[in-house]
Amino acid sequence: MNDRTVVYSTFYNPMEANIIKAKLEDRGFACFLADENVSTIQPLYNQAIGGVKLIVFERDVEAINALLAEDNSLDFESSDEIIDEEESAESKTVCERCGSANVGYGMATEKKYSLWATMLAFLTFTTPIKANKCYHCYDCGFEFK
Ligand SMILES: [Zn+2]
Repeated sequence: MNDRTVVYSTFYNPMEANIIKAKLEDRGFACFLADENVSTIQPLYNQAIGGVKLIVFERDVEAINALLAEDNSLDFESSDEIIDEEESAESKTVCERCGSANVGYGMATEKKYSLWATMLAFLTFTTPIKANKCYHCYDCGFEFK
């Protein structure tokens, strides 16, 4: 029995780290996050401390690689930066409830946004896709015209 743990990956976005963690736990892999609280409270300090570390058992690494490879369309490695850039380019709309700029319009048909929204919805128990078109906040789930 190999009980060694390894740092599987490092995230600069705690939300992203939690999505991966939830995904792994959903598949029965034990994993935990380190430095999460520090980076959440002091986001500007992320780079200095190395972000949020996802720690897994060494024996699970290959299986986790395979699991995450199934979803490589999500491109977690770079989804942070890409989404940020698209937000600023696409829309200046901010959520009327929480003020987040992480909002989308319509039915989230773009692949990445759709998967992203679906995973967030999974975690927050909100419904990201409605039949009617409106703005949807990916942070708090609030929808508005
Ligand atoms: Zn919001």
